[in-house]
Amino acid sequence: MALAVSSSIAISTSTFQSSQSKLSQFGSIRVLKKPFGVGVKSSQPRSFVKPINARDSVVPTTPSEAIETKEEDYELLAYQLENASPLEIMDRALEKFGNDIAIAFSGAEDVALIEYAYLTGRPFRVFSLDTGRLNPETYRLFDAVEKKYGIRIEYMFPDAVEVQALVRSKGLFSFYEDGHQECCRVRKVRPLRRALKGLRAWITGQRKDQSPGTRSEIPVVQVDTVFEGIDGGTGSLIKWNPVANMKGNDVWNFLRTMNVPVNSLHSQGYISIGCEPCTRAVLPGQHEREGRWWWEDAKAKECGLHKGNIKQEDDAHLNGNGAVHANGTPDVGADLFNTQNVVSLSRTGIENLTRLETRKKPWLVVLYAPWCPYCQDMEESYVGLAEKLAGSGVNVGKFRADGEQKEFAKHELKLGSFPTILFFPEHSSRPIKYPSEKRDVDSLMAFVNALR
Ligand code: SF4
Repeated sequence: MALAVSSSIAISTSTFQSSQSKLSQFGSIRVLKKPFGVGVKSSQPRSFVKPINARDSVVPTTPSEAIETKEEDYELLAYQLENASPLEIMDRALEKFGNDIAIAFSGAEDVALIEYAYLTGRPFRVFSLDTGRLNPETYRLFDAVEKKYGIRIEYMFPDAVEVQALVRSKGLFSFYEDGHQECCRVRKVRPLRRALKGLRAWITGQRKDQSPGTRSEIPVVQVDTVFEGIDGGTGSLIKWNPVANMKGNDVWNFLRTMNVPVNSLHSQGYISIGCEPCTRAVLPGQHEREGRWWWEDAKAKECGLHKGNIKQEDDAHLNGNGAVHANGTPDVGADLFNTQNVVSLSRTGIENLTRLETRKKPWLVVLYAPWCPYCQDMEESYVGLAEKLAGSGVNVGKFRADGEQKEFAKHELKLGSFPTILFFPEHSSRPIKYPSEKRDVDSLMAFVNALR
């Protein structure tokens, strides 16, 4: 979902059997049956049903047939499957977990997962989170997918009482004011938690290239450290990421080749698709994640659905080369923004800057950490900007704000995430925070020119 990707998730039931597509009716329960595709690997036709009104769990009413009881070393398995194709990984996941695994489908290009599952010839389930705020185009895709694959997506809805309380107290668009976490918690994370509580494994469309930093270390299979499965407790849920190693272009080539229905928003410039108010089209060259929660800081661009990625990232920073400075900051080698046009400010230097009511010159200062990939990404533009501003009457500085400086920077300098860019006007002690994620020279220059 972004569920990998993004956003939504639900669970769908599909049952494959012998020759023809059939529709069975079990009281109020409908189960679709369709033929195996090419390459059938199981001779065990299976069907499962779940009460249509099931609310707290997506556990099927029939017992699982494919759960392996022996302990699996998932780090080793991920290593062994690192070079496997998405189809192979999908097949392994479905074979291993049978009815206790489901694909999380957000209504975006993670429809590729459904095609891969279909190609295995095995039964598979799909779930999606209907947050109530999805685009009409996404609902149409859900419908097209159900029809093409003969499945019923198992939608998970948010708790009506919780949504009511949120909207009545804070309005329909509170996420623009105080961040998307609260709304996502109610509309996505809790329904997801309920869905996963009925499973032993889930399949996501997360890819390494989707979110620089937070998703760059995604293994093809891992123990889910954020959510729990049916047995409860840490390690009770396994997360499969069959397309982790695919690039966005490869996914699109696959979708086109296989004639898979896609969300029509993609043809309007949308890449990552989630809820309507929180998704927008991106321009050529922009990263796809810039189309999500664009008003917030880049590092927070995870919905809580895959927040284990952020922890992994932090751990990687701390454990990457084993070297840590005495002040607790990781030793990552080269510093950033090393040019005579960028003044390196000490703690005393930046404290003085914040105390001055009147300065001789305004300052632009980046709060950064050398290990932060977003800071590394803006090195060229910030150095270029400093060159342009040299002799212009605006000083350009940097302040390393990780490690023991982090608390100070959070409280005194509005540090939310790295990098934070501040403008200290000539006649005010209050710094103004650069609000955009566009860190190219022209955008930064426009910010400076608007305030100088
Ligand atoms: Fe709410 Fe936006 Fe999150 Fe959807 S993506 S649940 S609308 S904050």
